[in-house]
Amino acid sequence: MITVQNVFKYFGRIPALKDISFEIGRGEIVGFLGKNAAGKTTLMRILTSYLPATSGRVFVGGKDVDKNSLAIRRYIGYLPETPPLYPNMTVREYLKFAAQLKDVPVKHMRSRIDRVLDDCRLLYVQNKPIAHLSKGYKQRIGIAQAIINEPELLILDEPTSGLDPVQIQQVRRLIKDIESKRTVLVSTHILSEIEHLAQRVLIINRGEIIKDESLKGLLAQGGAPPKIRVRFKGERDRVARMMTSLSFSGQAPISCDGETHVLEMEMGEGVTPNDLISPLLAAGIQVLEVKEHPLSLEDVFLRLNPPQPERADE
Ligand code: ATP
Repeated sequence: MITVQNVFKYFGRIPALKDISFEIGRGEIVGFLGKNAAGKTTLMRILTSYLPATSGRVFVGGKDVDKNSLAIRRYIGYLPETPPLYPNMTVREYLKFAAQLKDVPVKHMRSRIDRVLDDCRLLYVQNKPIAHLSKGYKQRIGIAQAIINEPELLILDEPTSGLDPVQIQQVRRLIKDIESKRTVLVSTHILSEIEHLAQRVLIINRGEIIKDESLKGLLAQGGAPPKIRVRFKGERDRVARMMTSLSFSGQAPISCDGETHVLEMEMGEGVTPNDLISPLLAAGIQVLEVKEHPLSLEDVFLRLNPPQPERADE
């Protein structure tokens, strides 16, 4: 469905994308994850033919995006970071306009608009001017215009950015419904978004793809050991020192309530929780709870993207 070959993009002398290559097959749901300024929007704009690459080639549905710009735009559904809405139009008027732009046949126009209004839970506001609606509604209108042509491929750039928690739930549910029928590429810097929406994750950092992995695989291996969380009564620094000597590392105090502490550490290779409990008890530490927990996507992401000094353009 999408083939990207050795794509570079420069803005002046600044490289926004550096030698990007990947393929996305029909029906895949791919999350495109990266910090701010990683290059997500730039890549999505190239895939949707709104921006030319400096070099490299991109094929969508078998067509070269450079040579088939208009056809590609009609073929896909694209929700840009800021949806191109016209505030004076009503929702229905705007969707009709979007359908015309995408060459939806006149005989299907009305039924298609009714369907996306229903799918995107917009029927109730269909005759209101867009200017009068909340950001959550506007985002759903953005998604509605993206699917008005029934695209096989949907590209969503940060679809829940700037929404409140209730709106985020609504938009995620909507995307979930849409996903079942299409190939979807969704960009975000919010890790929970990926966990909710995607099956495969491409992690981009400073213009380069540094990981291309299934969500399950990423969480399973992550290149890192699981963590252990210990709740105990006793001297925190002493326990931390003991844990370090027993091959636990990366001390992170989670909480402290009087003399009860919670410490979290990574487990060294081959180490089990039992290797910790006996020595702690033998040392007179009152162990209240020991919990092993797998890596979260956040842990994996931070491991792959360790904090770096900020650049002027971030
Ligand atoms: P965000 O999550 O903040 O939207 P992003 O991962 O989408 O970030 P891009 O918007 O693709 O990142 O930006 C990648 C880099 O390219 C950044 O350094 C950005 O400043 C630069 N950039 C993007 N668009 C332009 C432009 N039109 N002119 C100059 N530089 C640009």
